[in-house]
Amino acid sequence: MRILLQFPEGLKKNALEYARKLEEEGNEVFISASPSFGACDLAISEARKLKVDKLIHFGHAEFHKVEENFSIEYIEYHIDADLKILERSLEYLKEYKKISIVTTVQHIHQLQEIKKFFEAHEKEVYIGKPFGFAKYEGQILGCDAGSAASVDNIVDAHVYFGGGLFHPTGALLATKKPFFVIEPFAGRIERIDDLRINYEKRSRGKILASVDAKKFGILVSIKNGQYNINLANILKRNIEASGCIAEILVADTFDFTSLDNLMSFDAYVNTACPRIATEDDKRTHAPILSANELMEVLKIKKDLKH
Ligand code: SF4
Repeated sequence: MRILLQFPEGLKKNALEYARKLEEEGNEVFISASPSFGACDLAISEARKLKVDKLIHFGHAEFHKVEENFSIEYIEYHIDADLKILERSLEYLKEYKKISIVTTVQHIHQLQEIKKFFEAHEKEVYIGKPFGFAKYEGQILGCDAGSAASVDNIVDAHVYFGGGLFHPTGALLATKKPFFVIEPFAGRIERIDDLRINYEKRSRGKILASVDAKKFGILVSIKNGQYNINLANILKRNIEASGCIAEILVADTFDFTSLDNLMSFDAYVNTACPRIATEDDKRTHAPILSANELMEVLKIKKDLKH
C-alpha cells in the first residue's frame, strides 16, 4: 500500500519511527514535511499527487468528513496527565458549585476521571457538546468552543484541563463565566477572564482602524477544513455594496510576509482559521478582521455617510 504520513509539529519527531515500521510491513511510505495545523489541514494535495492509497493523519481527531479517492485514517494522540493537580484547583473553584470541564483531544480519555473527581468534591459537573468540528463532548478546538459555550448559561464557571492558552482562549471568548485553566504539565492553575477584556479592546481597535479602509483583501485558505469561498463571496458583495473594493486572496497557509507585500490593501478579512483574526492580527501592516468585525466596520461606514 502507498501511504502518506502526516504529523503535527509536536509529533514530527516520531515520523521516521512510524515510517520504518510501516515499511517493514511491506508498505511504500511518504512523510509530509509541510506544516500541519490540525485535522482542518489534511495533506490532500500531496496525497493526490503521490496517488496514495491512504493518508494517515496523526495527533488530531476527525474534523469533518472528507471524500477522496484514498482512505483517511486519524490516529489520535492521548497523553496521560497526572491528575494530582486537581486537588489544588479546589481552592480556586471553591465559590463555584456548577462547573463545566473542557479539554483537548490529548486528554479527552481522562475527562470522566476528572468529572468524577470534582463530583466527589460536591461539584455539579457539566460536559457540553461541540458545535460540530470537535469530535467528542467536552473536547474543544481553537475554532470549536461549543463544549463550553453550550453550557455557559447553566454553569458558574468553566475549567479547561490541558496545555497552553490557544484552545481555552477560543472557549473563553465564546463564554461569559469565570474561566480557569489547569495546566497539568506546567503545574499551573490560573483564572484567565482578564484576557476577554484584552481581546475585546484589540477587536475594537481593529474595527476603528478599518473605518477609513477602501480596499479589502479577503483571505481564503484552500485547506480542507478552512475553505469557505461562499462566505468570502458574500463578504465581497457586502464590501462592494458599500462602495469599497474587495479582492479574494487565496493561499494554502497564509505567509504573513507575503501577505504584507500586498501593500495595496487597507484591511484584510479572514474566512480561514478563525484564530488568524484573533492571534495573527499584529503580523501585517493592515488589520485582519473577522467577518463579524467587517460587518461592524461596514455599519459604521454606512452610519457616517448619513
Ligand atoms: S483552530 Fe484553526 S488550525 Fe485549529 S482546527 Fe480550527 S481551523 Fe484548524
